[in-house]
Amino acid sequence: MEISVVIPLLNEEESLQELHDWIANIMQSNHYLYEIIFIDDGSTDTSWKKIEDLSEKNTSVKGIRFQKNYGKSQALDAGFELAQGKVVITMDADLQDNPEEIPELYELIINENFDLISGWKKKRYDNVVAKNLPSKLFNAAARKTSGLKLHDFNCGLKAYKNEVIKSIKVSGEMHRYIPVLAKNEGYSKIGEKVVQHQARKYGETKFGMDRFINGFLDLITISFLSKFGKRPMHFFGLWGTFMFLFGTSVAFYIGAFKMYKVFNDIKTILVTDNPWFYIALTSMILGTLLFLSGFLGELIIKTKNNEKHYTIKEKLNF
Ligand code: UDP
Ligand code: MG
Repeated sequence: MEISVVIPLLNEEESLQELHDWIANIMQSNHYLYEIIFIDDGSTDTSWKKIEDLSEKNTSVKGIRFQKNYGKSQALDAGFELAQGKVVITMDADLQDNPEEIPELYELIINENFDLISGWKKKRYDNVVAKNLPSKLFNAAARKTSGLKLHDFNCGLKAYKNEVIKSIKVSGEMHRYIPVLAKNEGYSKIGEKVVQHQARKYGETKFGMDRFINGFLDLITISFLSKFGKRPMHFFGLWGTFMFLFGTSVAFYIGAFKMYKVFNDIKTILVTDNPWFYIALTSMILGTLLFLSGFLGELIIKTKNNEKHYTIKEKLNF
């Protein structure tokens, strides 16, 4: 199998037939051995029925149906788990991504040995205020924290070497950061290709403005995880120890000072009247808490197994 096209979708019944025909056409004219994996992320319209019909007529069409709506990241992850192609291409189901890009993306991965090629919607056909501006900010922040020089992290159209998608786990809403996840796993030949972008033809966007808030929070998580995800103690332990030692030294000093005065019959204030007493107390408590968090983090890493975050209801052609 040369190419797997992985397509997550939620209520895209109007687009599926057209998208399928377009992809199948390109695959046939280039003589690729291919599969198209549709992941129905809990659609409530007739999307699954459409996928069933498509798979009857074309055995290259495979389907995964989620029990409920788990989100685009989970859908991609399920597709990645089952994708067999040497090159795996992801695209949105809404006809905004252009299947004509597939051959060039394939060539870049196979001939130029890229691990990942991310699409860049240089000319976008989305609402300027709601999407283009926030998305510029968002991409700038992602570039800064990840060190990856990509213009468009969130583009649905991307191509991967098979081993790349097998080595990463996309959860939560991390689909915006797959290039960062790949980089964290050590895949460094990550490139970009300007791709055609169309306005949404049918239906409406499934993500509102909260995508940017969630996106930034995920960005913080991911940059923290990439630094300390496998060794939380190095972060929490360090600061915990530091604060605890600071607190104890201050407490010790206050105690010693008080004793000195008491033994020498010098008049002195109560320990609890000294503001430093509270500072010492707080930093000892915070230090202990931080240290404990680090310790719990380490325990969680040791005991966690790679559990799934979705339940599949049906599979087609697998
Ligand atoms: N999608 C999905 N699960 C969701 C939300 C979206 O599988 O919970 C799919 C959606 O059907 C589409 C792709 O993810 O194929 C991108 O979504 P959308 O076009 O709404 O995002 P936008 O283009 O506005 O960024
Ligand atoms: Mg879209």
